Amino acid sequence: MTVRKVAMLGLGIMGGGMARQLLDAGFELTVWNRSPGKSDALVAAGARLADSPAAAVREVDVAVAMLASDDASRAVWLDGGTLGALRPGAILIEASTLTIDWVRTLAAAAAEAGIGFLDAPVTGSKAQAASGQLRFLVGGDADVAAAASPVLAAMGGETVHLGSTGSGTILKLVNNFLCGVQVASLAEAVAMIERSGLDVERSVALLASGAPGSPLVGAVSRRMVDRAYQPQFLVPLMAKDLSYAEAAFAGQGIDLPSSAAARARFEAAAADHAERDIAAVVESIRSS
Ligand code: NAP
Repeated sequence: MTVRKVAMLGLGIMGGGMARQLLDAGFELTVWNRSPGKSDALVAAGARLADSPAAAVREVDVAVAMLASDDASRAVWLDGGTLGALRPGAILIEASTLTIDWVRTLAAAAAEAGIGFLDAPVTGSKAQAASGQLRFLVGGDADVAAAASPVLAAMGGETVHLGSTGSGTILKLVNNFLCGVQVASLAEAVAMIERSGLDVERSVALLASGAPGSPLVGAVSRRMVDRAYQPQFLVPLMAKDLSYAEAAFAGQGIDLPSSAAARARFEAAAADHAERDIAAVVESIRSS
């Protein structure tokens, strides 16, 4: 299949950047977002704006979704007949971070309608979405993944096909489990340093360059110290991902107490910092 027409559903922090990459790669792009306004720059650059998700996906070769959660994905694909508006033979790429259960349910509905399906959640954040350097963790049929590869390559620096439907989602949830636990413990570490009166800059730099350092600890500790909370990855979305990881593995007999503790930190922070970056999780500990 030659992919020419692509739809992008969801133009948030991630979807907006991904849509821009698709446009720059030369695809005929139709966009849709629940709230108005987020498509203005894309339309000015040549994208077509649809007034519903069903209208956006009609006649496209590939439809990509980048939505907040299971609830958002369910609403977009099942309400208003969006899934049924895709033509048989088209490909649906769900790039949102979702539960395994919902991914499998959506994949089955797509298969019944003759639509190719990939779960293709991403690693990388706002900057990687805006520069086409995401890493796609892909689950689904290998032939469908091959057919969708020009679209994924336009948005990502790397596409990793991990296996059957749900494989990408499983690794993404494990990935964000590790990230969420690190960021919550980092917030506690920063609060401990601040409360004890140590030189914060110096102490945090020593931690970040030592054994506990990771790319994530380096980047997020800087934002915590600078109190720079412009959203890259929103606080409630990390809580969501941890809850999805816990649900995925509870059924397989793996309890995740460190995830539950980290999730409690993000849920507490979400009360006052829902529109801020995950680094703001430190604020609810600072103010305790
Ligand atoms: P975001 O900026 O909050 O965007 C969320 C998108 O979902 C928006 O387009 C929003 O529409 C839409 N949405 C929410 N509820 C909806 C509903 N009920 N019906 C229809 N649309 C709905 O979040 P984001 O950072 O782009 O994240 C998008 C996905 O990528 C999430 O699954 C997230 O976990 C994942 N992710 C994020 C990052 C990151 O660093 N940001 C990295 C990897 C993966 P409105 O504009 O109308 O609210």
